[in-house]
Amino acid sequence: MLNKLSNTIYYLSNQDNNERPTLGLVCGDSYSLIIDSGNSPQHAKDFLLEIEKLNVPPVKYVVITHAHWDHFLGMNEFDATVIVNSQTNEIIKEWQSFSYDDRSLKSYVNTNQMSAMCMNIIQTDMPNRNSFKLKSPDVIFEKTLTIDLGNKVCILEKIKSTHSEDSTVIYIPDEKVVFLGDCAYGTTTNSLFHFKQSLLLPMIKDILKYNAEMFLLGHESICDSTEMDIYWRELTRSSQVVKSSSLEDALECFIVENKRDPNNNELFFIKAFVNDHIIQS
Ligand SMILES: [Zn+2]
Repeated sequence: MLNKLSNTIYYLSNQDNNERPTLGLVCGDSYSLIIDSGNSPQHAKDFLLEIEKLNVPPVKYVVITHAHWDHFLGMNEFDATVIVNSQTNEIIKEWQSFSYDDRSLKSYVNTNQMSAMCMNIIQTDMPNRNSFKLKSPDVIFEKTLTIDLGNKVCILEKIKSTHSEDSTVIYIPDEKVVFLGDCAYGTTTNSLFHFKQSLLLPMIKDILKYNAEMFLLGHESICDSTEMDIYWRELTRSSQVVKSSSLEDALECFIVENKRDPNNNELFFIKAFVNDHIIQS
């Protein structure tokens, strides 16, 4: 079932057990817009089935928040204009060249072009896929794009992100709602989970300028501004004490500066910023 955030905004919650991210639906007077196309054609079909139950204007646009497979592999199911930023488009091109038979999937996993989890989801959710080809996005933008769905403006912007270099956020000004995709998360490089430290403050600045009150996240569904403020504060406080690849130094610095031990979230973030130094060195 879709969750109703307002009269014009709905979302399908993320499902962690099968790597399904949050999907969004924004409805204007004339058209509707979808945020992220799902991690497989089946995920997209499940979403479309739920949309059919609502009396909303036709889906004209699908925006992909970034080029991670779980956000775009359902793209072919939509009879709509698919919109991505130019960097996302470059990464998706590689997936358009892929074949999806078992042998090919295995070879991509072996060469680290695809995760084993992605292969498993494809094998489970796409039984007939030997001739599957991912379609091309239709509209490519560089920095920002504004779409009017009929008395409902959506602002798309490519922003700086600790998660991926190609993150697009979607802001709906009259609802004060922003869809963040995965942009506020960390990322994994060479099996190390890290937050890109140099991009943390620029990202927070990019997001806060919208004055949003509700935030939809790819793998959390929804947070209000109080929850997001706590998240930003914990991240910033953790980042400030990490100046090298020494976890010990960072923890010592945290205790001096905050006169307490870090909580579990902060400890997790400190380790991720330390890992960022390890990766940069
Ligand atoms: Zn992602």
